[in-house]
Amino acid sequence: MFKVNENFLKLPEAYLFSEIARRIGAYTEANPGADIIRLGIGDVTSPLCPAVIDALHKAVDEEASGSTFHGYGPEQGYGFLTSLIAEHDYRRRGIAMDEDEIFVSDGAKSDTGNIGDILSAAGSVALTDPVYPVYHDTNVMAGRRIQTLPCTEANGFVPELPSARPDIVYLCYPNNPTGTVLTRPQLKMWVDYCRREGTLLLFDAAYEAYVTDPDVPRSVYEIEGARETAIEFRSYSKTAGFTGIRLGYTVVPKELCGADGNGGRVALNPLWRRRHPTKINGATFLIQRAAPAHYTPEGAAQSGEIIKGYLGNAALIREGLGRAGYKCWGGTDSPYVWVKTPDGLSSWEFFNLLLTQCQVAGTPGCGFGPSGEGYLRLTAFNTPVQTRRAIERIARLF
Ligand code: PLP
Repeated sequence: MFKVNENFLKLPEAYLFSEIARRIGAYTEANPGADIIRLGIGDVTSPLCPAVIDALHKAVDEEASGSTFHGYGPEQGYGFLTSLIAEHDYRRRGIAMDEDEIFVSDGAKSDTGNIGDILSAAGSVALTDPVYPVYHDTNVMAGRRIQTLPCTEANGFVPELPSARPDIVYLCYPNNPTGTVLTRPQLKMWVDYCRREGTLLLFDAAYEAYVTDPDVPRSVYEIEGARETAIEFRSYSKTAGFTGIRLGYTVVPKELCGADGNGGRVALNPLWRRRHPTKINGATFLIQRAAPAHYTPEGAAQSGEIIKGYLGNAALIREGLGRAGYKCWGGTDSPYVWVKTPDGLSSWEFFNLLLTQCQVAGTPGCGFGPSGEGYLRLTAFNTPVQTRRAIERIARLF
């Protein structure tokens, strides 16, 4: 009989969001008409901005005519988009970037998982705990050894350098789920470490658009030497509301090299470029046509307003709960607020309490790793009115 990939049998049950849905479903069934406010989901709630909608309509019209129709496109992304990315997201911010270092995809989730295709499965991986589960599960699927870097109140949810050298380390800042950020010196410490140790840094910048503090880097390439050690993942999901239509990109600098079995240097950019024509036919033309609208002054202003709104909600959560005596982290350069459960409650106990006493749904921190136990993640992805109502209800709880 054929064999399965037994690594899949080592995966934890992907139960977190289905269990949350089950508990909310059971509560609403027992309490018909319950006015539940959802502050748990990591998905945007504002519709796409008008500039993007306009560009999408125009792209559909292009596909309707023989003279402008686009079939298969370049697997790494259309030049009209990669040139804008290199210019707006990097060069205008003082970061050197060539277009052929940018690879457009259907989102950062796929890329943070798929990047393992070009890396040895025998390598070890260091992951923060708590963590965005995709890094963990995709590396378990590949059979890599995993080392965890606990992020706790004691270290301000910023991991210490690993005690044993990993081949790969994933960092995500602004962080999901804790909402914390790295300062420039903190990120520099990681870049220096990775260069010194020959460790690949996989930097997930999915929430860079939420950074307002000038001392917080939006890109790992703001740090000197990062081009020799880091890959960066970006997403239009939380930046421009593309969670449903899907678009992201990955930067693989040309200087970045790993080793072959004989210790020879191998550049990663050509390997990732080689992978694409074999495994994907690129992100859809329509969606790539929509993304340039995000870089126009009009589009940038519209999506900027939406992000400002989410950051306003994050401030309502952080400040409102802080006044009510809760300990919270994140929520300043991030849409996520990490709340310590009161009275030593477990994550699920606090989740149940908020659901049944306040009709507010959060996400139990333990779903992101053992160090998330005793915490709950609240998100800014709702309206200001609903966010304010939710926080007033929680503040009245004790
Ligand atoms: N990276 C992090 C840290 C995320 O939180 C998410 C989505 O929640 C993603 C990546 C996924 O981004 P995308 O929608 O581009 O796949």
